Amino acid sequence: MIFEGKALQVQEIESGVVELLFNAEGSVNKFDDTTVSELGSALSKIEAHPGLKGVLVTSGKSAFIVGADITEFTSVFKGGALAIKAHLKKNLDNFNRLEDLPVPTVVAISGFALGGGLEFALSCDFRIAAEDARVGLPETKLGLIPGWGGTCRLPRIAGVPTAVEWICSGSDNRANDALTAGVVDGVVAVESLRESALITLRRCMSGELDYKTRRERKLQPLSFNDIESMMAFETSKGFVGAQAGKHYPAPMEAIKVIERSAKLGRDEALPLETDGFTKMALTSAAQALVGVFLSDQYIVKKAKDMAKQSDQSVSDTLVLGAGIMGGGIAYQAALKGLNVSMKDIAQSGLDLGMSEAAKLLTKRVNRGKMKADGMAGVLNRITPTLTLDAEIGSDIVIEAVVENPKVKHAVLADVESRVSDGCVVASNTSTISIDYLAESLNRPENFCGMHFFNPVHAMPLVEVIRGAKTSESTVARTVACAQAMGKKAIVVNDCPGFLINRVLFPYFAGFSMLVRDGVSYQAIDKAMENWGWPMGPAYLLDVIGMDTAVHCETVLSEGFPDRMGKTFKAAMDVMYENERLGQKNGKGFYDYQKDKRGKPKKVVSEEALSLLAPHVSSATELGPDDIVARMMLPMATEIARCLEEGIVASPAEADMALLYGLGFPPFRGGVFRWMDDLGVDKICEMASSFENLSPLYQSTAGMLDKAEKNESYY
Ligand code: NAD
Repeated sequence: MIFEGKALQVQEIESGVVELLFNAEGSVNKFDDTTVSELGSALSKIEAHPGLKGVLVTSGKSAFIVGADITEFTSVFKGGALAIKAHLKKNLDNFNRLEDLPVPTVVAISGFALGGGLEFALSCDFRIAAEDARVGLPETKLGLIPGWGGTCRLPRIAGVPTAVEWICSGSDNRANDALTAGVVDGVVAVESLRESALITLRRCMSGELDYKTRRERKLQPLSFNDIESMMAFETSKGFVGAQAGKHYPAPMEAIKVIERSAKLGRDEALPLETDGFTKMALTSAAQALVGVFLSDQYIVKKAKDMAKQSDQSVSDTLVLGAGIMGGGIAYQAALKGLNVSMKDIAQSGLDLGMSEAAKLLTKRVNRGKMKADGMAGVLNRITPTLTLDAEIGSDIVIEAVVENPKVKHAVLADVESRVSDGCVVASNTSTISIDYLAESLNRPENFCGMHFFNPVHAMPLVEVIRGAKTSESTVARTVACAQAMGKKAIVVNDCPGFLINRVLFPYFAGFSMLVRDGVSYQAIDKAMENWGWPMGPAYLLDVIGMDTAVHCETVLSEGFPDRMGKTFKAAMDVMYENERLGQKNGKGFYDYQKDKRGKPKKVVSEEALSLLAPHVSSATELGPDDIVARMMLPMATEIARCLEEGIVASPAEADMALLYGLGFPPFRGGVFRWMDDLGVDKICEMASSFENLSPLYQSTAGMLDKAEKNESYY
């Protein structure tokens, strides 16, 4: 053995040929501190190895190297520019040393080679991939650019268009696509990967393959003339700029770095990449997106651990109600391989549920995401029914009938009498208290909330709501079910509105007060969309539907009268009373007309404006910062209250719930991250300046405490 560490080993496998094997102890292969340091030491041994003729790079895991260790980023980024550059340099030096060895290097790529994993492979002379390989540079998804040579080596290996496309989209690519793009040199069966890579190495060693010329190309400026380069860069800047938008500067920065370094050799180009990476790493967008990545890992792990506690896996489900939600839930469960019985009282409901499922599946087939027989399989797993058996063998029942407590009480009690003692019963109610619904049940411990979002197939979040009597095994099985359905489960405790609606409606209260005070709702929508929300509040209310929104607003005003009680006629009430329900009947704050593709397109509504006129003060113009503050602060104080009351267990879960349930702008990372970004003291100061408007602008005890101690939520 030439070198043996915790993450990698080097040994001579035949005369003069050494194998550098990545095989991290107890984890996937990644470039963490240990691996980077060991790689440096291993390279010293390789460089000094007598009679060295070639280096084979392999992985002892099913995945090659998944990339940098992102858990290290937060502390590195906190250290500022110098710390970031030092962090990059250590591994950049490693990659250059490998590239500069006086012998050929061939890498065998299996499974994932992402980010730093692919950048490392790019510093080898030849890349042989297994059929299962997935390669890409996903850094821009974290608000960063590749930092270990990707912006320099990829365009020199595969050309500028491929480099721009791969880096700006952050996509991971299949082995065959990588071969077509020229990123890898061969694709072979998984079993013959190592042997094929070794044969390639021997061919380099014998001179049959000219590794030196292709290596030289990576060290030189890009070879194309000024007009070509200007066209390539200008076209991609226009396209990428429009796609990514102003809140996601990393893709554009990546193009600029590739452009600036086009006429430079490797050693002059890499410092430009380091500068670009550092600039991006110091943006709040990158810090939020890295935070989101880590929080996502946290919630997924927490849900997995919880699901493991379930005494039973979930394979058979019964969905009660085949409406918008029940139909969507049945479709999603069947798509993921669960058997579903779908019960409704009306044949028309069942027919609608099945035809909606068929429509969604047809779209998947048309997009090439599914084969026609797969579609039949999914539909066959859904059994529509108008009657319930006397004994039901399901592992879980998901109730999604009309939002009426009386109907729900009756339906839940009836189904409880038919299921086994161990069956979990969950309700998809969006507003009715779980403890109140449990009152009709003999086994309230087996009951909880399972709140999906509309449209079910597209929205990742499921709020699992624990009632006062819900047992932990019920929570565990419900989380296991959400996971089996491919959803992100976040467990919260019962309260009016649960987590999402409880914090969404204070935001809508901010909206209602702004409109009352004379600010136009179009201006509010524009300010909030510019801030990053996918749609402004008026538009969002039109999408949710005014009847649903007013109902929820009433539940919350009764639940929290001190701060959410109605004190004036809100704009949504005016719309509702005038039957302007939103997109569902083509008129709300806006009027809706179908566009060419049949999708609703919003236009200004003179009628809506004149209906509101008697309820609003004379027109007031507020700057976007004031609008954002008045909209976001009620959401912030309410989410802080939810944390302090234990409704949600951590800032990470709260923020991820907002991202997955409401489409909260990812580059802001969530409300707690937004508060941290501005500083909790500044948030409290801003809130106090609006305190006269409503108690929703009062900072909580926890916020004030953090502000005083200069602490943050993360
Ligand atoms: P919906 O009106 O589209 O569907 C309700 C279905 O329940 C209808 O098909 C109806 O025939 C059926 N039904 C009524 N009584 C029944 C019974 N006794 N047994 C079986 N089926 C019965 O309503 P929806 O929008 O799908 O909402 C269903 C539930 O999901 C509600 O609790 C709602 O609050 C909740 N929810 C809705 C949304 C949303 O955006 N629509 C989002 C989250 C949660």
